[in-house]
Amino acid sequence: MLLACIVCAIGIYASFAVGRHAARASGKARIHWGVVNVVASGCTAWATHFIVLLAFEPHMPAAFEPFLTAVSLACAIIGIGAGATVSITDPRSPRQFLAGMIIGTGVAALHYIGQSAYLVQGTVSWDLELVVSSIAVSLPLFGLSMVAIANRNRRIRQCAAPLMLFAIALLHFCGMAAMTLRYDPSVAFPSDAVSPQAVTPVVAGVSLALIMLAVLGWRFDLAAKARLRQDRRRLRDLADVALEGLLITQSNVIVTSNSSIERLSGFAQDDLAGRHVSALLPHFDLAGLPEKEERETELVGATGQRIPVRVLRSEVPLGHKLQTVIAVRDQRERLRTEAKMRALAFNDSLTGLPNRASFYELLTLQTAVPADADKPFAVVLVDLDRFKQVNDTFGHLTGDTVLMQIADRLRALVKAGDVVARLGGDEFAVMHSGAQAEAACALCVGIVEACNSGTFVVDGQSIHLGASVGFALYPADGGAPAELLRNADLALYAAKADGKGTYRRYESALNDKTQERQALEAGLRRALTDGQLELHYQPLVDAKTGRIASAEALVRWRHPERGLVSPAEFIEIAEESGLIIPLGNWVLRTACAEAATWPANIGVAINLSPVQFRDKALASNVVSALKEAGLEPQRLELEITEGVLLMDEARTLHTLNHLRAMHVRISMDDFGTGYSSLSYIRKFPFDKIKIDQSFVRNIPHDAESVGIVRAIITMSACLGLPTTMEGVETAEQFGFAVSEGCSAIQGYFVSRPVPAAQLRTLLGHDTLCASVEGDGVGRSILADSRDEGLDSASSDELVLQHSATDRSINRYA
Ligand code: C2E
Ligand code: CA
Ligand code: CA
Repeated sequence: MLLACIVCAIGIYASFAVGRHAARASGKARIHWGVVNVVASGCTAWATHFIVLLAFEPHMPAAFEPFLTAVSLACAIIGIGAGATVSITDPRSPRQFLAGMIIGTGVAALHYIGQSAYLVQGTVSWDLELVVSSIAVSLPLFGLSMVAIANRNRRIRQCAAPLMLFAIALLHFCGMAAMTLRYDPSVAFPSDAVSPQAVTPVVAGVSLALIMLAVLGWRFDLAAKARLRQDRRRLRDLADVALEGLLITQSNVIVTSNSSIERLSGFAQDDLAGRHVSALLPHFDLAGLPEKEERETELVGATGQRIPVRVLRSEVPLGHKLQTVIAVRDQRERLRTEAKMRALAFNDSLTGLPNRASFYELLTLQTAVPADADKPFAVVLVDLDRFKQVNDTFGHLTGDTVLMQIADRLRALVKAGDVVARLGGDEFAVMHSGAQAEAACALCVGIVEACNSGTFVVDGQSIHLGASVGFALYPADGGAPAELLRNADLALYAAKADGKGTYRRYESALNDKTQERQALEAGLRRALTDGQLELHYQPLVDAKTGRIASAEALVRWRHPERGLVSPAEFIEIAEESGLIIPLGNWVLRTACAEAATWPANIGVAINLSPVQFRDKALASNVVSALKEAGLEPQRLELEITEGVLLMDEARTLHTLNHLRAMHVRISMDDFGTGYSSLSYIRKFPFDKIKIDQSFVRNIPHDAESVGIVRAIITMSACLGLPTTMEGVETAEQFGFAVSEGCSAIQGYFVSRPVPAAQLRTLLGHDTLCASVEGDGVGRSILADSRDEGLDSASSDELVLQHSATDRSINRYA
């Protein structure tokens, strides 16, 4: 009995070890070791049974029937093999139960067929009732035992072995008890009967084979364990490099962890091994969390502190086993950032929006959190068009109300998590999180529409605004806050250059444009020192007499490679770079000196940029230019646009009055294009109004333009102001100007701007203008007034001049 137990135990160990090895293997090896496992299990059952039978003492000669003996072994192997096959196809309980019943049938067949192969010299009678009931009870026990093996619960799994042992014992002892032997010397053994002495070596051989198999299985197990240890060690080494905390768990018990977890929780890695996951993450339901989905929860550290974390579960095959890896991400930094963001979010007292400094800090936070480095967002800059005029015309209170309304509209446009800020003045910014280019474009369209569409109504007055928008994407268009803001600003600038009321995304070409501008600026600086600038003069004729009354000085740049460059291309750059100051002074001095050579009744008109008014020395420069040239002040006319009056009013008005006190005349250029031109002529007593070419161009076909020009002339007449119509290109326009009572006329129809020498020739002629109905239609009516280059009379140039003038008008609009 003892020997039977030992062989049984070794056999069971061998089968299990080989079975585990089969489970770890794959392909052919798996099938191969699976068969070995089944054969080993069958042999174990068989050998155990036959050792017990050999030990039985019937007190009469006994022998074995060889065929049935072999059949009993076959039954055991087939039964276990069939049961195992059924078992692995489906883990659910009914299948396992069926598999158990099949295995039980095999084992029962082994017992009873094996027992019937046991021959004695006498008769064998069977207690059939006991046989049947032993089978009837043991088969369900086999079934239950298999169900238990497949169960997840460890306790239930542990019941499987005793259950099966009990079922086998039941079969064995009931089988022995059901058999009654009676000695009968007349009974003879069949001729092929084998004596027990002959069976013994077979049984011993099988047992030995099982022992060898057990040793092999043991080595398999050892190797597998070593591999698992190595895998875990490697994983742990790898995990230690990870910033996130990692827990490798099996059945909710921590197997290993990484050093980040140690830092995060304060528990030593060795302390954590063997602990239940809930010791660290008490509120976390691992089974309820779908794989690869993040959850927020709390981690309880060694000192009991609660740390907000994000948890992600993932199943990883490790040493032939699926293990659960839990990634734990510390959320303290993110939450701190969010709290800081919330705190920063309100500090512009007018709109309640973050200001420039806060916005910058928010950008810094957003770009600094490394875990969010892959989250794109857009920096959108918004600049209101025409806001300055609103402020000037309606007052600061109205301007403030408009700004608040804009802030509300922007807030309504963005989604939760986005930040709207007021960078200052009429400049706003939006940090649009999670944005792709399309989403950012959609937002920009929304912003442009929200600022354009619908007038703003403040105190019953409707106000038309507009917005230009530029944006840059993080991280595609820049990684650092300063870079993002600069690039978004470049895009905004480009949007404004595109004609305002539109949006642009940053692109590297904008940088190229900046470089182009910088090159142009450097070139212009050189032009100033190298004397590449020259002045052309365009005559203005008196509408009543047809004589030249004055000439407007227009600057040109004789570029060494590009030829004559239009001021429309460089005045803006000169203004932005400050070069306009020396440039303007040069124009002033040159034009005054030139005009001093003209007949005393001919005046000279000079364009002044708004930027020149920021120069405190403007008035004294004018004085010295006049003095140097010996020109009487009343012959000088300064043309200013509304842009001048948009600036610091008190100082500008002071300068203007100062100039007027010196008898210099001031005229309002490009009248009608600005936001509220009428309010400006009230502010300052101009000597003259120049009606903008954009109205003149459409005369006489466009009724609206005709109406506007008529209204301006009538209004000016009422105020006692003379008017000049500029951009007169056709005989109809000329006729219109004369008949409507304009004082002076300027335009290609009269003459293009011409170099100084050519103007002198014009002035030398008797400068009487040809009759309007004359044959000069469509070209200059002053003899030979051809300007070279820029002002030559090709039709292309004409178009260029139009668009150039459009641009200069827009600049102030
Ligand atoms: P502006 O003061 O309105 O000057 C009139 C512009 O219209 C000139 O363009 C002139 O050539 C063009 N023009 C004159 N008659 C006609 C016409 O019949 N048809 C068309 N299509 N155009 C005509 P230009 O010389 O290119 O000057 C453009 C602008 O550049 C000027 O507009 C002025 O704002 C600015 N500018 C020119 N010289 C100076 C300067 O010395 N100082 C400053 N600050 N600005 C200047
Ligand atoms: Ca002008
Ligand atoms: Ca003009």
